[in-house]
Amino acid sequence: MDRFDLVKESFERKEVPAEVPGCKTSEYFGELVFDRKKMCKYLDADSLQALLACIEGGKGLDRKTADGVARGMKEWAMEHGVTHVTHWFQPLTEGTAEKHDSLIDYDGKGGVIETFDGKMLAQQEPDASSFPSGGIRATFEARGYTAWDPTSPVFILDDTLCIPTVFISYTGEALDYKTPLKKALKAVSDAAVPICKLFDPTVSKVYSYLGWEQEYFLVDEALYAARTDLMITGRTLFGHNSSKNQQLDDHYFGAIPTRVAAFMRDLEIAGHRLGIPIKTRHNEVAPNQFELAPIYGETNLANDQNQIVMNLMGRIARKHGFVVLLHEKPFAGVNGSGKHNNWSLGTDTGTMLLAPGKDAKGNLQFVTFFVNVLAAVQKHNALLKASIASATNAHRLGANEAPPAIVSAFLGRTMTDVLHKLLELPSDTPIEIAGKKGKSVGLVEIPEIFVDNTDRNRTSPFAFTGNRFEFRAVGSCANCAGAMTTLNAAVAEQLIDFKAAVEKELAAGKETNVAIMDALKPIIKSIIGVVCFDGNGYTEEWKAEAKRRGLDVETNVPKMFCEFTKPAAVEMFTKTGVYSEKELEARNEVKWETYTKKVQIESRVMVRMALNHIIPAALEYKSKLLKELTLAKEIYGNLDNCTTELRILDDINKYVEDVRIKATAMREARKAANMIENDYERALAYHEIAESFPALRYPIDKLEETVDNKMWPLPKYREMLFIN
Ligand code: ADP
Ligand code: MG
Repeated sequence: MDRFDLVKESFERKEVPAEVPGCKTSEYFGELVFDRKKMCKYLDADSLQALLACIEGGKGLDRKTADGVARGMKEWAMEHGVTHVTHWFQPLTEGTAEKHDSLIDYDGKGGVIETFDGKMLAQQEPDASSFPSGGIRATFEARGYTAWDPTSPVFILDDTLCIPTVFISYTGEALDYKTPLKKALKAVSDAAVPICKLFDPTVSKVYSYLGWEQEYFLVDEALYAARTDLMITGRTLFGHNSSKNQQLDDHYFGAIPTRVAAFMRDLEIAGHRLGIPIKTRHNEVAPNQFELAPIYGETNLANDQNQIVMNLMGRIARKHGFVVLLHEKPFAGVNGSGKHNNWSLGTDTGTMLLAPGKDAKGNLQFVTFFVNVLAAVQKHNALLKASIASATNAHRLGANEAPPAIVSAFLGRTMTDVLHKLLELPSDTPIEIAGKKGKSVGLVEIPEIFVDNTDRNRTSPFAFTGNRFEFRAVGSCANCAGAMTTLNAAVAEQLIDFKAAVEKELAAGKETNVAIMDALKPIIKSIIGVVCFDGNGYTEEWKAEAKRRGLDVETNVPKMFCEFTKPAAVEMFTKTGVYSEKELEARNEVKWETYTKKVQIESRVMVRMALNHIIPAALEYKSKLLKELTLAKEIYGNLDNCTTELRILDDINKYVEDVRIKATAMREARKAANMIENDYERALAYHEIAESFPALRYPIDKLEETVDNKMWPLPKYREMLFIN
């Protein structure tokens, strides 16, 4: 099939209807998760009680309880036709890992029976030596253990019972994303509770909430299969711009194509069955770009759900003849994809800590958390950027379509005014949040906050949106845990320090509210004009200004990772019990290695395609032109009428030679980089190679514009980017 057949096939592809259940969503929501309802139905009283104590109170689970829980789970799973079980975990790769075991065992009578016990539920030892560990798990001690995380419910995918687990090494170091995330969530709760108690002594736990918005692209699977670069690297390494892409802003929130709508419907139904509260779906800015978002939830669970959804998207897309692209920048020249992480904190008594309160006390509590979050973001701005940095997200950051490669916070006019006024007023002034208009000392007007919200600053990586912060720099294919671990840990550290500052003020005999305000004031002074920035983050002036303010402006991804092992980060992560120094060092090795491999793979694909696809296509056209010239010479005796052909030939010669030279140079650069032993130094060398991609891409895209359309082997942007 040539390119035109593929395009025609994709154009003529008919919608595959979604499998709509004939009942209300509420009737099948969560049917494939072992949630509280199932626990009550399938567990005996003792097991139920012990399991709930484990989930809510962080109590350990003994073997007897695990056996009891496993018994109930097995009964439920068998009713759903389950034949296999797997521990489901999140190693330091993209995506999740699973190793399925069938439930059968010999029954001693020559047959088999289904078995599933507490041991299988609680712990497994996958042969884990092939997962990235950054040297923590040398091959001679290849053991890695997965252990059940009871706070995230067990779920059924196809015929398999999936048990969410943490993944740790023989010596106890975390080898996954979940373990440090859970530690950071505990740290932020432990640090926030004592501060909440200053306002409400009944608070005993603080939850971190995450609402992720997942952006993605869809492409027709036939066209995808014809693009080696997309298949292997997840993005197009070249391709001339389509004449029309997103200039007319006609895709954003536009009518969803029916083929895509059917895919979304199937995805939602599958998600809802798994208890994932998928809520929003819409077209995004770029053609073929879409977004979905669930209702926010507790961060650990919400992140597991994001991992499940990314997996579901891939499978369900295929049913509809699509491939889903989660890469941050699949197509140059149109917007890339992110995963906004809406984040907040709330108490077990139902107070949202980043939303204005009902009275002066509630408002003081809100301002306390608001200011401390900003202080944490300021102190660790470079680290937060490092937490979202990757070889793939690098294409999106700073590309004037997504947050710049500088972490600052957008407050909005209302909250900016509040901070300024707090500095001016005496510390015992009650902070009023008036319903409509501010009273004499009223500082915040709720309606105004909402007005501010709608006019959001899209250029800010960390924006306050009324009751939460939106960390917008996270990449679309990233595991949210990277960013969420760092953010929650940094806030935990700040809250610990803040509590100590308040204690000092209290020791001086001040009233609680005055002590809190006096501890807040120096922090407010230190953040205004530094991390707080409401202007346009895309401008060159901001880069200069941010540097002057002392914010980190590094754009080199391998260098950004160094932040994780700097003293401030090591102190923060060890103080909060989230990472040991050894883990931080090991993780950086993994990061540099992953970075290197990603660029290495892209570079190989690029060079091979340049030499095997692009140059031959150009030479074929060249040969056609040369034949025409020979003919012309035969017929007319001269080339007087062939100026166009000659010009085109000149261009082709020039670009082909340029491609050959740059491709060869890139291959040589790779050879040199591969000789470097040190992970960091090698990643730096690969960063240079990544920087040279546009130079090789340029003559290739020029050739695409020059060579006869019929001879071009690869689907073009204009053909891939418009699903009908
Ligand atoms: P927008 O595009 O306006 O940012 P969306 O509806 O696409 O809004 O996504 C907003 C996300 O933020 C949703 O997942 C929503 O549930 C979540 N969210 C709302 N309130 C909070 C909160 N207090 N904490 C965390 N996430 C929240
Ligand atoms: Mg948003």
